[in-house]
Amino acid sequence: MSDTLHLDKRQRAMLAEMGVRVWSPMSEAAVMGAPAVETLVVDTSASAPVEVVLQAHAEEAHSFATASELATQAIANAAGYETATRQMPASVAKAEPAPIIIQRPEGIDQMDWSALNSTVSGCQACTLCGSRQNTVFGVGAPAKDGQAPQVDWLIVGEKPGEDEDRQGEPFVGQAGKLLDNMLGAMKLSRTGTRTAEGGGVYIANVLKCCPPGNRNPKPEEVAQCLPYLERQVALLKPKMILAMGRFAVQALLRDCVSELEGTPYGKLRGRVYQYQGVPVVVTYHPNYVLRNLPEKAKVWADLCLAMAHLQGSEKANQG
Ligand code: URA
Repeated sequence: MSDTLHLDKRQRAMLAEMGVRVWSPMSEAAVMGAPAVETLVVDTSASAPVEVVLQAHAEEAHSFATASELATQAIANAAGYETATRQMPASVAKAEPAPIIIQRPEGIDQMDWSALNSTVSGCQACTLCGSRQNTVFGVGAPAKDGQAPQVDWLIVGEKPGEDEDRQGEPFVGQAGKLLDNMLGAMKLSRTGTRTAEGGGVYIANVLKCCPPGNRNPKPEEVAQCLPYLERQVALLKPKMILAMGRFAVQALLRDCVSELEGTPYGKLRGRVYQYQGVPVVVTYHPNYVLRNLPEKAKVWADLCLAMAHLQGSEKANQG
């Protein structure tokens, strides 16, 4: 997937006015023989905070996509995502100075586990880098020399919350306790090693950084972060993925479920899907279960489906 932006003159002008520079190192790249790549750079030198500039232009640009939508769209386009339009409230507009956004490094799909981990630690590919305390790469079975741990299970959540942001580990709050209990019921644990009988778990999220105020991930944040999860799956090679929550499901099943956005979440349960050739079972997010305790029984049914599928494939592979 290319990160090169295809912006017309008008789009470039609007981005420039809102303090987002499209940097195109054409001549340098030509000299170096490297492919030309364009980068969105948020210009923090403007006297007005960038967010205020966004707001001002959003009001003026009524005949076309607003300036902020264009920036959102440009980032999302680069990663092949669709975006929802949004209006930024004036109270939010005067917040912190915008962080510097640097393009995600090339070659994530070739990185080994430790390179991927350190790339995530330094990631500045979306504005969440300005508010996070820690990136949250994931947690799981012990691994040798910076290699990916050997696991049968990958649990995919949505995004770190404030506790996770503080500790740099996924699912450490109340939802994490529930997840640990769910794993315990399956005779698994978050850091248990894979044995001859199987097991081994890794827990990761779609987003590696906590959105401020624990809000939902934005499409452009998911677009920027998803290659990290894609590479984690490729390196972990789990035998089963449990998708927890709408954003995890959208990230993992967008290529295999038509009308995904319009399908009620509950209707996605009870089937085994595929992501990168790995079976995926959808279950409720622990946060949702904490608010709807009777749904625990359905989660248990989902876990049983996943365990049965895994055992079935093991037997088929042996016989
Ligand atoms: N919710 C998630 O989806 N992930 C976490 O890490 C914590 C809460």
